[in-house]
Amino acid sequence: MMLKARPKKIGIEASSLCQLSCPSCPNTSGAIHPVIGRGFLKADDFRKIIDGNPWISGIELSNYGEIFLNPHLPEMIEYAFMRRVDVSADNGVNLNDVKESVLKAVVRYRFRSMSCSIDGACNETYRIYRRGGNFDAVLGNIEKLNYYKAKFSSPWPRLRWQFVAFGHNEHEIPLARKLAGELNMSFHLKLSWDPHFSPVKDREMIRNETGAATREEYRQLHGVDYKQSLCRKLWDQPQINWDGRILGCPRNFWAEFGGNAFKDGLLHSINSERIRYARKMLRGKKGAVPDIPCSTCDIYLTMQQNKTWLVKQPLLSPSRVLGGLRGVSGPRCPRHADG
Ligand code: SF4
Repeated sequence: MMLKARPKKIGIEASSLCQLSCPSCPNTSGAIHPVIGRGFLKADDFRKIIDGNPWISGIELSNYGEIFLNPHLPEMIEYAFMRRVDVSADNGVNLNDVKESVLKAVVRYRFRSMSCSIDGACNETYRIYRRGGNFDAVLGNIEKLNYYKAKFSSPWPRLRWQFVAFGHNEHEIPLARKLAGELNMSFHLKLSWDPHFSPVKDREMIRNETGAATREEYRQLHGVDYKQSLCRKLWDQPQINWDGRILGCPRNFWAEFGGNAFKDGLLHSINSERIRYARKMLRGKKGAVPDIPCSTCDIYLTMQQNKTWLVKQPLLSPSRVLGGLRGVSGPRCPRHADG
């Protein structure tokens, strides 16, 4: 029998639209639009995925767009809560425009975790990269989340301040870290993927913080791509576009793997012939072929050059799908959501 990946977690982008115009983002340039398109995940499709795949216990909602632009987000996170599925936005949110009722729902329905993209410690610095955004509005929304977390005596969502290091903001890293602590957020310093926009100046300081001053230096020093861990998502958190098409991993925006999780079934779609071939490529068992998205990806090309293949992932056969289903004790009671 052919073994298949049956992940507990999947990624489905809630919104490919974003209201900001960050200079290096492929959403701003339009590079994602030919494949990703512009749209929102529909609540019916979200419910169908949860109901039809009871082994799913977590769904990551963020990727290239801003999840809070999806008008159906509150009903989706309420449904996930009722069905005992954890939702997260760990790839990132900009958190600029969110109704207070939505922030309340995020806490009430125990949204699990959220990574907030804040590349500065004041508005003047923040808006150099997050064009169209407002630092004070973002911090105000974090304070509202903290207000509801205190009101409902809940630790959820866990909040992370994600700070992309640039030349124009590196002097504010200590202050941003301090503010994150005051807001009960963890702090993560990240290297920019674009070496041309505002490159870091204090390379030694950034190197001490992240292991390298740039992603290229990271590749040279460590022999692997800075974001090689993304490839593991092909097994343990396959990425699905807002309309159900299969992207495989969060980085891929240039080609789809084929199939549609909403129309063809999730398990079938994330184990198509092409995605299984890609998994073999990433383990160095098969060569690159043009119609597999990984073949033109920088991360794969680095792996190919340095022979730093992924080690084999545990695969589960369909016969084990019946074990460990979510929700065997029934849905959650909404009366307990405040607790
Ligand atoms: S090689 Fe690139 S496209 Fe393929 S899984 Fe890794 S990050 Fe995604």
